[in-house]
Amino acid sequence: ERIIEIEKMSFESEYESSLRPSTWEDYIGQEKIKKNLQVFIKASKKRNEALDHVLFFGPPGLGKTTLAYLIAAEMGANIKITAAPMIEKSGDLAAILTNLEEGDVLFIDEIHRLSASIEEILYPAMEDFRLDIIIGSGPAAQTIKIDLPRFTLIGATTRAGMISSPLRDRFGMHFRLQFYTPEELGRIVQKAGQKLEKPCLNEAAAELAKRARGTPRIALRLLKRVRDYADVEDEAVISLERAQYGLDELGVNDMGFDEMDLRFLRILLESKGRPLGLGTIAAALSEDEGTVEDVIEPYLIAKGYIERTARGRIATPKCYEVFRLTPGAKNLF
Ligand code: ATP
Repeated sequence: ERIIEIEKMSFESEYESSLRPSTWEDYIGQEKIKKNLQVFIKASKKRNEALDHVLFFGPPGLGKTTLAYLIAAEMGANIKITAAPMIEKSGDLAAILTNLEEGDVLFIDEIHRLSASIEEILYPAMEDFRLDIIIGSGPAAQTIKIDLPRFTLIGATTRAGMISSPLRDRFGMHFRLQFYTPEELGRIVQKAGQKLEKPCLNEAAAELAKRARGTPRIALRLLKRVRDYADVEDEAVISLERAQYGLDELGVNDMGFDEMDLRFLRILLESKGRPLGLGTIAAALSEDEGTVEDVIEPYLIAKGYIERTARGRIATPKCYEVFRLTPGAKNLF
């Protein structure tokens, strides 16, 4: 019952799940990860074993959950989905684990947020497929061991650095997802447009892809909004003009920066080369530090607009160039 409840609380909208790729062919990009996973899955199927535990790192919306679904489908297994903040007590995890069946895939999102005591329970479950439950306390405490079916744990995290090393070491495979190229995002948008019965002309898909911060979830969200503009105008397809109009209205500029990126970069540029700490930036943006670190910064770092140094964040020469500014100049804005 508990697991059904957890599944129901899954965090995606109906729209997102309808566009989720159901085959490896539909899953665009991340070629190396796909190729490796397919080999490892084939090998474990040949040996008739559950797949070794898998850990995915990467910013939100790059396709970690989707990969977990694809792995389960390829293994012919059921998938149970939960997120670390939902596992508060040891009983929560015990209920999840004892409800698993042989070969099942258990997906835990934000796995870096598991508490130390929950991690302790997970270790023997991952290594020996055994649950050690301590009943009582003090000298009367008893440990009960329960055998678990062989299952595959798939962990996902946006914070590679925050996952404890004993937990990290218990995953047999580690994969870091990369931001997508505009060409890959263009293909994702085209496919989604077809599924939504609102085809996207090539140039329109390219425009959406260019402005989607390398992230499929953002590309699909922008597509959905631009489709609204096209629907209101009774247009059967999404044209470049409609895409550009919609994106401009949504505040996504033609360099692919959204409003939050621009505010972030503005704060750094206005500091005139002085490194700024995460706390200062987060306060200036009225955002929490986790969002700044997990959602805003990774793309700007990957694109070379900002750098994280020991003393704080700084704008790179490329960033000054893009805004046609000189480092150290007065009155930037
Ligand atoms: P989070 O960490 O926030 O849970 P995530 O990395 O698990 O994010 P997903 O939920 O798997 O991301 O993907 C977000 C959306 O993007 C999904 O609706 C999925 O359909 C789409 N998507 C992700 N990757 C791909 C891809 N490679 N090809 C096509 N669509 C993709």
